[in-house]
Amino acid sequence: MPSYAYFQKKIMPLEEANVNVMTHFLHYGTGIFEGIRANWNDRKKQAYIFRLKEHYERMARGCHILKMKLPASIDELCKITVDLVAKCNYQEDVYIRPLVFTSSLNLGVRLHNLDHDFLIFAFPWGPYLDKDKVSCGVSSWHRPDDNVNPPQVKSTGIYINNALAKTEAIENGFDEAIVLSPHGHVSEGSGENIFLVVNGKLITPAPYNNILIGITRNSVIELAKNELGIETIERSISRAELYQAQECFLTGTAAHVTPVSQIDRRAVGNGEIGPITAKLQELYVKAIHGELPKYEHWCMPVFKK
Ligand code: PMP
Repeated sequence: MPSYAYFQKKIMPLEEANVNVMTHFLHYGTGIFEGIRANWNDRKKQAYIFRLKEHYERMARGCHILKMKLPASIDELCKITVDLVAKCNYQEDVYIRPLVFTSSLNLGVRLHNLDHDFLIFAFPWGPYLDKDKVSCGVSSWHRPDDNVNPPQVKSTGIYINNALAKTEAIENGFDEAIVLSPHGHVSEGSGENIFLVVNGKLITPAPYNNILIGITRNSVIELAKNELGIETIERSISRAELYQAQECFLTGTAAHVTPVSQIDRRAVGNGEIGPITAKLQELYVKAIHGELPKYEHWCMPVFKK
C-alpha cells in the first residue's frame, strides 16, 4: 500500500520526503519528536487517534525549551495529522511520527539562528513489547539530569541514552530496561513510564525523577482514580522498593500497558499479571479504541462517516 508523509507543508509520497546530508539536525540531534497512535476499532471500522492534542502540546513545550518553531497552531497540526492518516488509509493499528528539526544547511552546534522544518509519517505498527508480560533489568545507564539534557523534552538527541539502556537490556537477556535517575531512584523504561502497585495503591516516579511525562501515564492515573478509586502517588522510588512491589507495569503510546513479571531475575509478586494491572490494561484498551463513552474526548476519529 502506498504511504505518505507530510513534509514541507504538503502531503507527498513517503519516498519523496527526503533531507539533504548537510541538514543541521542530522549532525546534532536537534529535533523533537512525538509517538502517537491511531488505534483501529474493527467493530466500528474506525481508527481513533489517542490524545492527539496532548502530544502536540508536549511537543510545543519542548519547542519552547529548545527554541524551536512549530509551523502551525496545535489545532492545525491535529488537522494535518488526521488528514495524513486518513490519506494513508490503513485498516489496522498505526503509529504516527511527527518530528520538528533544525533544517538549516549549515553546521555549528547551537539552537539559535536556525530554520526549522516539520514532518509527519505514519505506518502500521502492532504492540511494541509484543508479549503478555515482560522481564526487565535495571540499567547501568542513568537518565540524564534536567540540567544535562532535559528528559521532559522528547528530543531526538536524548534518545542515545534510551538506546544504550535498551540494547544493554536485550543483550543481557531482558525484554526492557528500567533506568534510574542520576540520584539512583527509579525513573522509567527505555520508552515507557513505570508504575508499581504497593498495598493497593499505585506509585510512579514524579517528574523530578527525570522522566518523560507520558500521556499514557496521565491516562492511567485518571482511569485508576475515576474507574477503580485507586490513588496514584508520584514520588521517588528506591531500587529495593522496586524489587518488593506486588505488581509492576510499563506505560507508553507504543507499549500500551505492559505487565512486568520479573526485575533483575526476581519475580514481581507471584510472577503473574496482577489484578490491578489486568483491570487497568482492560480499561486502557477500551479507552484507546473509543469504547468508553466517558473518555471519547480522548479519541479523534480518522475517517469521516
Ligand atoms: N518515557 C520515555 C522515555 C518514552 O520514550 C515514552 C514514549 N513516548 C514514554 C515515557 C511514554 O510516553 P507516552 O505515554 O506519552 O507515549
